[in-house]
This record gives sequence, structure tokens and C-alpha cells, in this order.
Amino acid sequence: MFLSSKRLLSLIALLASLIVSPGALAADIEVLWLGHATARITTVEGKVIVIDPFLKKNPKTPEKYKDLSALGKVDLILITHGHFDHVADVSELAGMTGAKVVANAELVRQMAALGKLDADKIIAMNKSGTIMPVGDKVKVHMVPAEHSSSLVLDEHADGAPNLVTAGAPVGYVIEMENGFSIYHSGDTGVFGDMQLIGRMYEPDLAMICIGGHFTMDGSSAGFAMAELMKPKMILPIHYGTFGLLKGNPDQLKQALGSADIKVLDIKPGEAVTF
Ligand SMILES: [Zn+2]
Repeated sequence: MFLSSKRLLSLIALLASLIVSPGALAADIEVLWLGHATARITTVEGKVIVIDPFLKKNPKTPEKYKDLSALGKVDLILITHGHFDHVADVSELAGMTGAKVVANAELVRQMAALGKLDADKIIAMNKSGTIMPVGDKVKVHMVPAEHSSSLVLDEHADGAPNLVTAGAPVGYVIEMENGFSIYHSGDTGVFGDMQLIGRMYEPDLAMICIGGHFTMDGSSAGFAMAELMKPKMILPIHYGTFGLLKGNPDQLKQALGSADIKVLDIKPGEAVTF
């Protein structure tokens, strides 16, 4: 059987829209999951956004990406909250790439005051705010998360962490040049306004924490997505990194039941393209 060149091209486009490894067929938008809550998102026009960089000490990050230069150029870094497993590599990555850093006002100003970030590079904002920090076509919305936030400075002599306030935890919705929207939950429990986020931004892809203990597990995340947010696709994150984070994609799929939501069950270091 022969395929016409047009049909062959559409077949290639279809394959490119499925899960592929980084560096495979080019596509409009790429989401590279690097383990835990860390992701590198490339927009339609090639802007690169990194969320919650935790790579060098992340047991699930592929060895290649423990060298931060493997991320390539980075235009923007989004931080959801101040906990170590979300900010560990922010300072170094921002320093080496010159990327602007977005976070809740208290967190990002605190980091600048502590010398962890260049004050000229921070974008302090808050929940319900919308910015367009990488051109005038990509919108970044800061949305609520139900969690806590602090920044560890060092340890007291007795070994207790020396914490400072880091404002409220948040999530993000990124609206791409072509309207495709991505929700990143940060760390959160289930909250009723997930329904509001779903109605306002209609996420095509929801990157959601499912590890449990500190956040939703697969079961509660499945309930939240099926009953409240209703995204088209889910990329589960923030699970399996440490022993306490026992939630898993199978729990999530079971809890989603017959909901019309596709789970992109990929491994750290793999990418999805849209
Ligand atoms: Zn976390």
C-alpha cells in the first residue's frame, strides 16, 4: 500500500503529537519532565520556561540534566513556592542563563534580598495576576495552591532548619501563542477553586502533584481533575522522588474512572509535544 505525500505528512504530524523523546520530531510545544515538579516548557515560538528547577540533588533527574547547561537557553523561571525541592537550583540556573524569575512577591523579593537572585531579574507578582514576560503572546497567570511555603537559609547549631517566610504557595497557568494552556499545580491539596481555574483557563494539559503526604495523592488528584478542573490531559508529577511520596499514576487513572481525560504517564527525562 502506498501513502500519498500529504497523507504521509499528516501521519508524521500525528506521530509527532504523541509521546516522543526529546530531540525527536519537531513540534509546536514541548513539555520535558525532569522529575519531581521540574519541567522545561518550550513555547510555539521557542521561548523556554523552566518551572521549579530541582535537578542536581533530585534523585529522579536523569544524569544528563544534573549539568544545568544541558537545559540550553532559558528565558523564564517560574517558582511555585520556597521549599527546597522547588527552588534548589533557581539561583544557579538564573545566574547562568540570565532568565527572569517569577514568584510570589514575598518569596522572590526575599531571595533577592538574600543575594540569591539579581534584583533586576525578578518579577514579583501574586495570585490572579497575569504577566507576559516572554513577548506579547504568552500569558502567565498565577493561581492559588493549597500548601505552605518557607525558605531554608541554613541550619541552627542544633540542626533545626533556619526558616524565613516565603509568602503563599501558588500554581501557574501558561497560555501559549496558539491558545494551548498548561496548568502546573505546584504543591497542593484539593481545593474547590480548581473548578474556577478549569472554567477560566480550560487547561489542555494539567501537570499535577500526585505523590501524597505533602500534597494530593493519585486518588484525590483524580477526583479533583474529574470533578473540578476537567483538563483534556494530565501529566502526573511530584511522586516517587522520596519514599514518602507513594502516590502513583495507577491510582490516578483508577480515580479518573471513565472521565474523558488522557494521562500522559511518562518518565523523568521524557517529553510530550503538542
Ligand atoms: Zn514539593
